[in-house]
Amino acid sequence: MAGWSTAITSVSLVEEALSAIEAREEELHSFLTLLPDAVEAAEALDRDRPAQAGPLYGIPYAVKDNIVTEGVRTTAASRILEGYLPPYSATAVERLQAQGALLLGKTNLDEFAMGSSTEWSAFGPSRNPVDPSRVPGGSSGGSAVAVAAGYCRYALGSETGGSVRQPAAFCGCVGLKPSYGRVSRYGLIAFASSLDQIGVLTGDVRDAGVVLGAIAGRDPHDQTSVDAPVQDYLAEIGRGARGLRFGVPAEYLAQGVDPAVRDEVLRAADLLEAQGLERREVSLAHTSYALDAYYIIAPAEASSNLARFDGMRYGPRAASDELVEAYRATRGEGFGPEVKRRILLGTYVLSAGYYDTYYLRAQKLRTLLRREFTEAFDAVDVLLTPTTPTTAFRFGENTEDPLAMYMADALTIPANLAGLCAISLPGRPAQGLPVGLQLMAAPMREDILLRAAAALEEAVR
Ligand code: GLN
Repeated sequence: MAGWSTAITSVSLVEEALSAIEAREEELHSFLTLLPDAVEAAEALDRDRPAQAGPLYGIPYAVKDNIVTEGVRTTAASRILEGYLPPYSATAVERLQAQGALLLGKTNLDEFAMGSSTEWSAFGPSRNPVDPSRVPGGSSGGSAVAVAAGYCRYALGSETGGSVRQPAAFCGCVGLKPSYGRVSRYGLIAFASSLDQIGVLTGDVRDAGVVLGAIAGRDPHDQTSVDAPVQDYLAEIGRGARGLRFGVPAEYLAQGVDPAVRDEVLRAADLLEAQGLERREVSLAHTSYALDAYYIIAPAEASSNLARFDGMRYGPRAASDELVEAYRATRGEGFGPEVKRRILLGTYVLSAGYYDTYYLRAQKLRTLLRREFTEAFDAVDVLLTPTTPTTAFRFGENTEDPLAMYMADALTIPANLAGLCAISLPGRPAQGLPVGLQLMAAPMREDILLRAAAALEEAVR
């Protein structure tokens, strides 16, 4: 975290955070749980500060409530996990704690990370700090709000199809989705395991690099975590982006993208060229199928992952003398409407008569999309696109129409299906609302991604 002087105490940062929370939290509802002893924890960190304290030491941060934290209530914003106290912390959280980071609280989300607005939280939505009549995006909406409202410098979120980048775009902060396997998923409550990844929300690109550096790397608890070297991302950013090649695929500027958003992306492309990046033509012809493939694969995996929530091991259990009836009643009461919709969709596409028609075809499409990206990344180092087709929408605008809600992720989902790394950073606002600029890079090339993102960030200011 560049520029933080050791003269700043953790206590003063926590007090600042608490007064920002005091001023706006009643309206914004970023947190589901605030740690009652944050000031005491900060005092202890200040007292024990080592001479070689790292950049995250004593800095308050927040964690999306689908990432488990030892002894701190974790709900995934679902009634079915109400009152759950995890016996361990996620690896990403462990790594931050080991660096002396200070956990402020757990943030709101769409139930089990299924949604794009936090309107599907069982505990009420969060509000966008830029315009509280609008959604903050989702599903990591609470984390984006915490950063954008100045409660804390960074927050962890999670991505399955855009849940870090989309709320970052709506709230005007930076959202980084690492490559699949870059960060351990151990302790992230599973939604769709082949897509899920922990991500980072911050105020700027450098902070995203610092936090990524702290949480990334192989973890024996997650067999899909990749044993690739974790770079010094600040040093990488320091190398600049001159000479990198980029492309703006036309498919990402097509129908459904707000003209103001498109114009801002085109302006960003000019700025990248002015920064010394080289522009190349790229085409990603299968882009429009990504959303369809995702809404088969993600629900399929969710229907299996969520089978464990039956009232036997976690959360409240509906009263019944009969086992199957107890499952039925617990799940009927415990899950909200969007989660039920996903379980139904997933069970359907995996069922004997439909597996080949839906699930298998979606997997084939996923392979095609991956190949197409591999080819594109032969020609360019990074892709520049909008993060979302529109700016933040109003409450209730999309809750009656699941398809309209799903469209919010049309431009972020391809990166999840292909396991790429991707980032959203704020461009120039349109009609007072933040616009997200997205960059994507090949799997495990966070170094290139962050170099290009820092150059763009500097240019758009
Ligand atoms: N909004 C998408 C969904 O509802 C993505 C969610 C996510 O990335 N967790 O599935």
